[in-house]
Amino acid sequence: MKNNCIFCQIIDGTLNATFILKEENCIVIKDIAPKAPIHYLIIPKVHIPDVASISPSQFDVITNLFAVAQKIGKTLPGSQAYKLVINNGHDAGQRVFHLHMHFLSGPISIQGI
Ligand code: 5GP
Ligand code: ZN
Repeated sequence: MKNNCIFCQIIDGTLNATFILKEENCIVIKDIAPKAPIHYLIIPKVHIPDVASISPSQFDVITNLFAVAQKIGKTLPGSQAYKLVINNGHDAGQRVFHLHMHFLSGPISIQGI
């Protein structure tokens, strides 16, 4: 938990979000500014700033993000197509420095992802 981190605040309940799933190690919420008809954020509960900061002991938590993506994917209608995006670093578009995976489905406006 990092005090000034918005995703930590959503995880601890001090900031509101629309929850899709609450898992043991991660949460899934709707993105506040969706770039696709379905745009979720899969967020590990542990505060890891970015991909570059993941330690080997945390790899199981990261693997679980993909398991959750598969779980959400199975609930999609039609072709069950989706795109997963993780930004690492400001120059790559990362704006929230608590690791998260974007889950996007439907026509995607890639600008801003
Ligand atoms: P990044 O640019 O760091 O990869 O992605 C951050 C994402 O978090 C953006 O898509 C942005 O719309 C979303 N976001 C920022 N603040 C909030 C918030 O307070 N609540 C929710 N649900 N999403 C947020
Ligand atoms: Zn955090």
